[in-house]
Amino acid sequence: MVILITLLLLCVSLGSAAPASRDRVTSAPAVVSNEQVHDWLHLWQKRLHLEDWKVEVKIVRIWDLEQGTLGHIDWSVPHKTAVIKVLNPADYELPKDKVPADMELSIVHELVHLHLSALPLNKSSRNAEEQVVSMIANALLDLERHEQPPAPNAFANALP
Ligand SMILES: [Zn+2]
Repeated sequence: MVILITLLLLCVSLGSAAPASRDRVTSAPAVVSNEQVHDWLHLWQKRLHLEDWKVEVKIVRIWDLEQGTLGHIDWSVPHKTAVIKVLNPADYELPKDKVPADMELSIVHELVHLHLSALPLNKSSRNAEEQVVSMIANALLDLERHEQPPAPNAFANALP
């Protein structure tokens, strides 16, 4: 396995030694560093006023997450500690240029869950909670990126 990884790294470095073209730049593997995910964590922890929590973030492989999920959070209310797991870019099925934004969204999503950690765990309200958390996290990132939601009649206006 070590040999295989070494060979892969060698291929990558040989590839990048060739003259750079736009195609090469855009098709480069999505690399999101540990440093980047920690920066996102600190930024959003502060914005969401969760600084009194000790939160860790880990980039994990697909087999370390529940099937069909992109992130996970475990917390301890008495200790005020939490561990967030986000999916490794290598296991993403999204176009590579969309991966970093999605990883940031996962971190925000899991942090919003942390705000709701004071609520009793209740299986019957889990889906509702998931929807609320997703909506809030998406809205926060839309704001961050200054994206306006489409006007209600945008599609009607677009018709010939
Ligand atoms: Zn969730």
